[in-house]
Amino acid sequence: MILVLIGPQASGKGTQSEKLAEKLNLNHIEMGGILRKVARENTPLGRKINELINKKGVLVPDKLIFQIIDNYLNKFEILPGIIFDGFPRVISQAKYLEKFLKSKGKTIDIVIYLRLPKKQTFKRLISRRICEKCGRVFNLITNPPKKEGVCDFCFGKLVKREDETPEKIKTRLKEFETQTKPLIDFYKKRKILEEVDGDQPIDLVFNDIVSILKKRGLVGNEAV
Ligand code: AMP
Repeated sequence: MILVLIGPQASGKGTQSEKLAEKLNLNHIEMGGILRKVARENTPLGRKINELINKKGVLVPDKLIFQIIDNYLNKFEILPGIIFDGFPRVISQAKYLEKFLKSKGKTIDIVIYLRLPKKQTFKRLISRRICEKCGRVFNLITNPPKKEGVCDFCFGKLVKREDETPEKIKTRLKEFETQTKPLIDFYKKRKILEEVDGDQPIDLVFNDIVSILKKRGLVGNEAV
């Protein structure tokens, strides 16, 4: 199964992708996480990505995204299934992915759009924390760590993301509205888009997604 998750920042794409990947044995490609990893490398590409995502909070140009994603896509043939989280984020990337999949005789099976009101997005973003060691994401409101400031999984320190200052959040939300939202119509036309209310507890969002996958015959009734 090839699944794409789209939604505004902090709508729960990462959390839901992790759960789906684990329960349905899918590979999870998290574009933001991949970029943050590249940004930590002391190379010309790493420094450039760091400037764009952490210092400015703007989208990375397609040329660089395609260069990075190609590495992952080329491992694709051995994969039983895949979840794309944060890619595609603009129409040009959606076309790129479509073309790549076509060359492999595949198509996207389903695109889930996680809806979240703007006010909630902002609120969730300012309360998001990330483990500086393993990159796991927590949220002080929706998904708090067991011990304040400490990662449940590796006991690393939880910090705020560098791009989560009020100004950069504003830029990123604007980019979602202008650049990413057009993907909704793009996939609606292809009849593969389903909307899920992201403004619910994690398990309820997950149940809604699984119900859609079952309804569309993408997983069996016994799957989860
Ligand atoms: P995220 O963790 O999904 O919020 O992504 C963090 C940042 O990485 C975004 O604010 C963008 O700057 C960049 N980014 C992630 N995915 C993409 C993409 N598909 N295209 C361009 N930039 C991206």
